Amino acid sequence: CGIVGYVGPQVGDKALDVVMEGLGRLEYRGYDSAGVALVGDGKVETRKRAGKLANLRQALAEADLPQTATAIGHTRWATHGGPTDANAHPHRGGHDGKLALVHNGIIENFHGLRGRLEAEGVTFTSETDTEVVAHLLSAAVDRTGDLTEAMRETVADLEGAFTLLAVHAEQPRTVVGARRNSPLVVGLGEGENFLGSDVAAFIGYTKQAMELGQDQIVTITPDTYAVINFDGTPSDGKAYEVTWDAAA
Ligand code: GLU
Repeated sequence: CGIVGYVGPQVGDKALDVVMEGLGRLEYRGYDSAGVALVGDGKVETRKRAGKLANLRQALAEADLPQTATAIGHTRWATHGGPTDANAHPHRGGHDGKLALVHNGIIENFHGLRGRLEAEGVTFTSETDTEVVAHLLSAAVDRTGDLTEAMRETVADLEGAFTLLAVHAEQPRTVVGARRNSPLVVGLGEGENFLGSDVAAFIGYTKQAMELGQDQIVTITPDTYAVINFDGTPSDGKAYEVTWDAAA
């Protein structure tokens, strides 16, 4: 399973291309489904398919997708809910579907959270543990008006292991990631930034990387990145240069 995120300077095809290439480079980790979210024009589009990346490629080829500067992608190794299109990530949050979320790992306490959300009237469209996070995060964005702050509030309610990436239609040049007991690496480019489960996700584009520490949140835009701890305090992250070759 794997995760890729990209935000670049221009609206075009590159965001989707980078994410699909990254998912291809992460295939070695194993997966049963794949999906992407594209953010642009006050709107988020998602496409997801059970099975190989070829199935997702086919769905993308048939779709009339917007050009965007920002995209996230996911390969899933199902833990809760079978490998179906509906259970594939990204998952959408909010009645307006303005949020999209991908997750590798397990949310141990999803059952109680799901019960609470259902009691509040939230309708679920998958059997995954992940979908609770999409709804919690979306509600937190509505409350706080900011995806990073919303992520900080939301992870406080979660138990288990997770790498999360989220995008929101109201912040189309931003990807927010979080990690606990599961890896997340930042790739630093010129006017573009990347996120990945490991450096393989973006090695074709930059060798400047930064590993996130345990219980940290990162926010990337085309020109900036910022890291905070789950308690909100700022952090620096450990920057390093990847020494192996993309061709390897
Ligand atoms: N637990 C999540 C699910 O079953 C994520 C699995 C993964 O790590 O890909 O959808």
